[in-house]
Amino acid sequence: MIKIKNLSYTYQPHLPPALLDINLSIGRGEYIALIGANGSGKSTLIRHLNALLLPSRGEIEIDGLNTKESKDHIEIRRKVGMVFQNPDHQIVGMSVEEDVAFGPGNLNLPSTQIRQRVNKALEMVGLKGFEKRSPYTLSGGEKQLLALAGLLAMDPQYIILDEATSSLDPVSKEKVLNILEQLKDTGISIIHVTHNMEEALRAHRVLLMDQGQIIADGPAGDILNQGEKLKALGLSPPIIVELMCRLQPYYDRQKCILSVDQAAVEIRSWLKTIKEFNHNSQAQAREI
Ligand code: ADP
Ligand code: MG
Repeated sequence: MIKIKNLSYTYQPHLPPALLDINLSIGRGEYIALIGANGSGKSTLIRHLNALLLPSRGEIEIDGLNTKESKDHIEIRRKVGMVFQNPDHQIVGMSVEEDVAFGPGNLNLPSTQIRQRVNKALEMVGLKGFEKRSPYTLSGGEKQLLALAGLLAMDPQYIILDEATSSLDPVSKEKVLNILEQLKDTGISIIHVTHNMEEALRAHRVLLMDQGQIIADGPAGDILNQGEKLKALGLSPPIIVELMCRLQPYYDRQKCILSVDQAAVEIRSWLKTIKEFNHNSQAQAREI
């Protein structure tokens, strides 16, 4: 469990706080999307979760370990893994297997166990067979999968992605998102910072930030369905929400529609009602 209590953070005394009185709990196996405009404080918040930044005020506990205790930083960083936007900055080894082995190598584990972890992690992200390749020869998507494998080899409880999918092609993006879903099912908690609202829809819980505060926290459908609110904050609502909002004046939308499949069902039944209405009106006109 991650517990954030009254967290505030100021980069420099003359600057306004980047985070202001944040209270939050994150449980095991949660899949969270963290959204908000540029500069709203997303990166500052998540950098507190593995003690890259320490609170100016308030406390953060990761499974009972307070990030203010520097003796616990190694354990906190093992538990909380982060993937950043630029995969090139995360490469540490001369080969794929060396890169993935780097983290567990620092945990003083026996070499057989390290090898097992490396194999398992490469298998999970679909990079088996790439062991001897130089990480620099991988595509952008493969490098992000490599970064993810490096984290998995540490046996983390929490994985945080800070816009890690934003520069990936659709196929690589889908691969990463599918892996996140599998990981969540194993009890690992995911926090995905993203600007892509379609990606945010895949999470169960969405945290919406504005000016250093969490201004909404709830099920993805409830938050991402508020098209006007998202737009007012400079975010683009999911396309399907935008479409259904535009259709709103023409029919009475009761349900929250969040997927293409749901929208197709809804529009089909709406067209059927119109067709039946026209048919009945024409029949009545003929009778008159
Ligand atoms: P986001 O990730 O949502 O785009 P950030 O957490 O990066 O937002 O930034 C939050 C606020 O903190 C912004 O006003 C930003 O300018 C400021 N900020 C971020 N990093 C620094 C820094 N190293 N020094 C001073 N201010 C910073
Ligand atoms: Mg950021």
